[in-house]
Amino acid sequence: MTARVALVTGGTGGIGTAICKRLHDAGHRVATNYRDEGRARDWQQRMRSAGYEVVLAQGDVASAEQCETMVRQVERELGPVDILVNNAGITRDTTFHKMSPQQWREVIDTNLNSVFNVTRPVIEGMRERKWGRIVQISSINGQKGQYGQANYAAAKAGMHGFTISLAQENARFGITVNTVSPGYIGTDMVMAVPEAVREKIVAQIPTGRLGTPEEIAYAVAFFLPEEAAWITGANLSANGGQYMGW
Ligand code: NDP
Repeated sequence: MTARVALVTGGTGGIGTAICKRLHDAGHRVATNYRDEGRARDWQQRMRSAGYEVVLAQGDVASAEQCETMVRQVERELGPVDILVNNAGITRDTTFHKMSPQQWREVIDTNLNSVFNVTRPVIEGMRERKWGRIVQISSINGQKGQYGQANYAAAKAGMHGFTISLAQENARFGITVNTVSPGYIGTDMVMAVPEAVREKIVAQIPTGRLGTPEEIAYAVAFFLPEEAAWITGANLSANGGQYMGW
């Protein structure tokens, strides 16, 4: 595949790291954002020791201004962004009747408004160059809902509406827009769930195990080559068979 410039948000996290590695292995030049510089530099050093060079750009995905600055920095260091993976995300779980406005807003800002904030500064360049790949990392819980995650499920379901609209608007410009909906993956986000709850989750997964970040990176990579140009507006479930609807 032609070498491209790829921006992966939340690249320092569990799934993001695997996506950065996969894209780097495919020959792309990769960048990600950070909020805490010290932690990000440690991560960059570990990646470098493993043979992966990833450019870091400061930016909270919940801030439109910071995302604009972040994208311009990536463009200066690597060139225009051809591949965007909207992966950064958080959870603030609680049942809705106990949910604070802050818990609602933080999750919507980080998981959904972020998609506007990061995609907006890259889309015009992709349209001008007539090539682009945009992949959202949504969630199984955006497809089926989840007890205690009204904020998260709303944000993740919103990503699907965004994906299929953007796919229609940009198909003529050589840009594909797709979503990957992971099931439960053994990253910090899921390992933070109490073990007893995790055992119940695993019992609902037909494959009988949590997924790996590398399995999600594989699903993202599927959408990127030239041969995938006909695939746009799709949602790829990668969940060990836990949910088989759209
Ligand atoms: P992690 O918590 O390991 O990583 C999340 C990443 O997002 C970190 O790099 C984090 O950076 C970054 N991030 C969070 N908030 C912001 C922000 N406001 N601005 C910039 N960066 C931010 O999570 P996972 O790797 O597990 O999850 C990645 C994506 O996959 C998320 O969107 C998640 O919802 C989704 N997902 C995960 C599943 C799972 O089972 N793990 C299942 C389904 C979907 P920082 O270090 O600064 O916090």
